Amino acid sequence: MLSLEHIRSICSGEIHISEPLAPMTSFRLGGPVDIYIEPTDTAELRAVVRYLRETETTYLVLGNGSNILISDDGFRGVALNIEKNFSSLTIDDGIVTAGAGARLSKFVDFCVRHGRAGTEMLAGIPGTLGGAVIMNAGAYGGEISDHMVDVTVLRDGEVLTLSVEACGFRYRNSDLRGDIVLSARFDLPQGEEQDLRVRRKELLLKRNAAQPVNYPNAGSIFKNPPGQYAGQLIEECGLKGRTFGGARISDLHANFIVNAESGTAADIIDAINHVRHVVYEKKGIELELEIQLIGFPANAVEPLRRASRV
Ligand SMILES: Cc1cc2nc3c(=O)[nH]c(=O)nc-3n(C[C@H](O)[C@H](O)[C@H](O)COP(=O)(O)OP(=O)(O)OC[C@H]3O[C@@H](n4cnc5c(N)ncnc54)[C@H](O)[C@@H]3O)c2cc1C
Repeated sequence: MLSLEHIRSICSGEIHISEPLAPMTSFRLGGPVDIYIEPTDTAELRAVVRYLRETETTYLVLGNGSNILISDDGFRGVALNIEKNFSSLTIDDGIVTAGAGARLSKFVDFCVRHGRAGTEMLAGIPGTLGGAVIMNAGAYGGEISDHMVDVTVLRDGEVLTLSVEACGFRYRNSDLRGDIVLSARFDLPQGEEQDLRVRRKELLLKRNAAQPVNYPNAGSIFKNPPGQYAGQLIEECGLKGRTFGGARISDLHANFIVNAESGTAADIIDAINHVRHVVYEKKGIELELEIQLIGFPANAVEPLRRASRV
């Protein structure tokens, strides 16, 4: 049985009961979490995680909530937010070290200011470094793992530093799922600060023109299947602009589902299921989710059946 008193004795950070999670996500959707904790350093995080494991309590790590959909019923367990207290950025001998809680925009800005190239394409991604590392976030042909040296994680209660090769980075995934990312180090090529600023601005403008930035969303819902673009497939199936309660498949970018009119997480799930069924039926392609579902039953995303005519 989880004791709040015990958690308070091992963690000096914020601890809240029945905390609404919707404001902590870019979808602005989802119910509350039973217990919300902000450990203040690695020792506290380690102690809390050890206790949660001992008590067999389910927990989740929250970054900036820009790649998740939380159920309308919320999450039964503990949310650990390491955004606030793990966000340091340093450079030493040309190696940039970024804490897992650092916002990607700040990380990119830091690198640009220090004349370090190769992160500019990440500028408009609204996540934290930890969230980006876990899923190997990327854009415009680059990925966060490109110039990475190593990643420090909390794994099975131990703090480990893993070489980039040991992390198994691949398209929007890694072998780090289940670990808690604490920080990562980067060996970035040198660049002219002014050139890097220009490139960052160009890519930001391109991004803002192509994405529905005015509505709450979680970025691309589906991964691109090999050699294809999920957005193009969805568009070719005539699904742009379709609504599901308050959720809408964006008119601007079909791989974005937006919370257009006071939608619910259930509306987003309806949209996801419909898109997957139609694309499977019309194109024979099974779209895989890029976003993480939290607090949903395992069958929330329905299995695909050929018989489901659309
Ligand atoms: C408008 C918009 C545009 C986007 N564009 C892109 C894009 O171009 N490319 C791209 O790759 N993504 C994009 N995304 C998705 C998202 O921003 C990235 O995936 C981002 O890296 C997620 O980081 P986060 O901190 O928000 O993670 P969260 O959404 O908080 O969490 C995502 C997952 O990572 C886990 N996690 C978070 N932090 C840690 C940690 N420290 N240790 C272990 N696990 C952790 C969570 O438990 C969860 O499973 C976009 C999103 C939006 C809303």
